[in-house]
Amino acid sequence: MADPRNVLITGGYRGIGLSVAQAFVRAGDNVIVVDRAGEPPAGMLGVSCDVTDTASVDAAFTEAEEKLGGPIEVLVANAGITRDALMMRMSDEDFDTVIDVNLGGAFRCARRASKGMIKLRKGRIVFISSVVGLYGSAGQTNYAASKSALVGLARSISRELGGRGITANLVAPGFIETAMTAELPADVKKTYLAGIPAGRFASPDEVAAVVRWIASPEASYITGAVFPVDGGLGMGH
Ligand code: NDP
Repeated sequence: MADPRNVLITGGYRGIGLSVAQAFVRAGDNVIVVDRAGEPPAGMLGVSCDVTDTASVDAAFTEAEEKLGGPIEVLVANAGITRDALMMRMSDEDFDTVIDVNLGGAFRCARRASKGMIKLRKGRIVFISSVVGLYGSAGQTNYAASKSALVGLARSISRELGGRGITANLVAPGFIETAMTAELPADVKKTYLAGIPAGRFASPDEVAAVVRWIASPEASYITGAVFPVDGGLGMGH
């Protein structure tokens, strides 16, 4: 088994983030989950952090590094929100808030994580994007824009830090059974299901397995790539 790495996952108290955290724990890594508030899931180390606040991100990384005894080698930027509305009815606030959490939060965490990774001369950054980032989604101009922007973020980081043993990739989940998708109206779910070649939605564990692999030593020569985990929903996009 490879040496344990220090892994930090934002939005790791539930949903996809928690499944990702559990996958790294099973692989023997040292894991810390980050969320806005509350108690971390049983058996997990946790730190409070609001990814929209640079000081909060800095403090969370510092606390995580102290608790884990060294720099973060693997960042999974997973925290994300939706504020859906058709474009004509979308408020500036709903647009800005989604961009600030999904894109700004990912940027702040990657920037802070890169300090330790540069010292280590190795690191893995995995951004959790979405199939709708490249496919588009009516009612989600804010969310889809935030998720496609992560492509530019990961590819630019790859160009800046690729020579230092650091990779930056994206996982683009399709329809995953979590609290976020439980809120969707039944007719929207039915429409999506009809467009998924796999004929079903996925479990968070199916996303977690791909994230863990991209962060593994086996994926050392992959950077700036988008990995769809969407049952074929976004094929060709
Ligand atoms: P959940 O809503 O279940 O979890 C989102 C997590 O992000 C929560 O833990 C939440 O914490 C955290 N979070 C939100 N805002 C902030 C913030 N400002 N600072 C820190 N943490 C924050 O979502 P999912 O597990 O479904 O989604 C996880 C990621 O996967 C998201 O980026 C989402 O866009 C993406 N995704 C999900 C899909 C799906 O089908 N579910 C499909 C494609 C992509 P809190 O408890 O404080 O709210």
